Amino acid sequence: MKRRKSLKPFAYDLEESDLKRERRKARELRESQWWKRRVARGRCHYCGASTPPGELTIDHIVPIARGGKSTRGNVVPCCKSCNNAKKQLLPMEWEEYLKNAGPRTNDLK
Ligand SMILES: [Zn+2]
Repeated sequence: MKRRKSLKPFAYDLEESDLKRERRKARELRESQWWKRRVARGRCHYCGASTPPGELTIDHIVPIARGGKSTRGNVVPCCKSCNNAKKQLLPMEWEEYLKNAGPRTNDLK
């Protein structure tokens, strides 16, 4: 019994079952050797901060709720502060945050 809400402005065509499947896949990815190698580098994908592997979380670049998938291309290691910021900020604010975070190569002015 499926009921789609097609008149919503954000018609990502997501259903609860899709969300659950992607979350489950994310958990599986997190258990994989591929992921363990990624976090072993101990670096946040967004701000580049050195972070102990145990404190890196798995983050979806495109959130599942917006149609993102749990694929290797869409998940990155993320430190706690970036993870919190990403959850709380609007997409535009998040982009602003990333501009200010990130590897600091322009500090030598
Ligand atoms: Zn970070």
